Amino acid sequence: MRPFIFDSAATPREAIETAQAWNSGTGTTHFLAGGTTLIDLMKLDVMRPERLIDINPLSSSNFGRISIGEGGLWMGALVHMADAAEHPDIVREFPAVAQSLQLAASQQIRNMATLGGNVLQRTRCPYFRDVSYHDCNKRVPGSGCAALDGFSRSHAVLGTSDQCIASYPGDFAQALIALDAMVDLAGPGGVRRMPFAELHRRPQNRPDLETVIQPGELIVSFFVPATPLARRSVFLKVRDRESYEFALASAVVGLDLNDGVVRDVRIALGGVATVPWRAAQAEAVLKGSALDEATQDAAARAAFSGAQAREHNGFKIELGKRTLKRALAQAAVMEF
Ligand code: FAD
Ligand code: SF4
Repeated sequence: MRPFIFDSAATPREAIETAQAWNSGTGTTHFLAGGTTLIDLMKLDVMRPERLIDINPLSSSNFGRISIGEGGLWMGALVHMADAAEHPDIVREFPAVAQSLQLAASQQIRNMATLGGNVLQRTRCPYFRDVSYHDCNKRVPGSGCAALDGFSRSHAVLGTSDQCIASYPGDFAQALIALDAMVDLAGPGGVRRMPFAELHRRPQNRPDLETVIQPGELIVSFFVPATPLARRSVFLKVRDRESYEFALASAVVGLDLNDGVVRDVRIALGGVATVPWRAAQAEAVLKGSALDEATQDAAARAAFSGAQAREHNGFKIELGKRTLKRALAQAAVMEF
């Protein structure tokens, strides 16, 4: 058991200032939301924060609210996954958002876990989660990567580097990235808004740096614009068992169809990439075309054109293509 300081913040300012003061010294601080990633990794000795700041008291503010207006959907970072997944307006107007949350984890975890914590969850790479393995650039920068020549079945085929091939494990982020969501971050300099697509960093030569969030910055909320694409959206998840399992491959498709012709489309892929992955090349293939078998095949090929497999994860390329084609077909026949 490693000792740590436990704090609680009553306001965002208090949370940010406490974190900033501590981070500018030698210690590491983490905000505590549902704890389903953080406490898990502390028990495994993978994450070793010296201070936790419980931000749950902020949930009585915007951090804990869902609101839907004409412009779109606002979801506070402390909204529980279950509350967003089961919200009737989200289920109807933003189906891929609701499905990505509903098909994640278990009911107990969804009741506890928050949206902000969800997008910041860490990889399930077994070598990252087991400190008895020395080589993991994500856990110990510069130590190597045990997965490159190890068991790579769950690892990524898109966005990898020679330093890390860990797949991004979450589901919700794919819905956000596909539907052009924005994220608000609050830090010492105030609030900044950015496209959600810019939040996560590819591993490149620094796999330990997973997002552009600065020390002491809080995720406040997510915004998903209301569009025809959001209404006709689908999340499809393929995994080793029917529930309570991470994705081997997943796809989010948002479609705007006009007489069987694709007026506009958004595609994101999960389970196969190191970060939430927007498949822009596949979108380009589909735009303006009839959604027939040949176009779907071409889009799937484009989505995985840059894929690189290791010894055990080559099957993800074909699985990912099939998952995408099935999601396209499901979105095409959606009825309102
Ligand atoms: P915490 O554990 O509290 O925090 C996680 C990280 O985010 C910490 O570093 C924390 O400091 C930071 N953080 C939290 N909130 C904020 C904020 N507002 N601003 C800045 N930083 C913040 N997820 C899926 O998507 N699909 C699955 O199939 C799935 N299966 C799972 C199965 C199991 C057995 C488990 C344990 C988890 C599973 N998960 C799955 C992951 C789960 O959804 C995440 O653990 C959860 O969403 C994290 O949210 P939390 O509130 O518990 O985060
Ligand atoms: Fe670590 Fe990434 Fe290699 Fe896994 S794939 S061992 S997380 S560096």
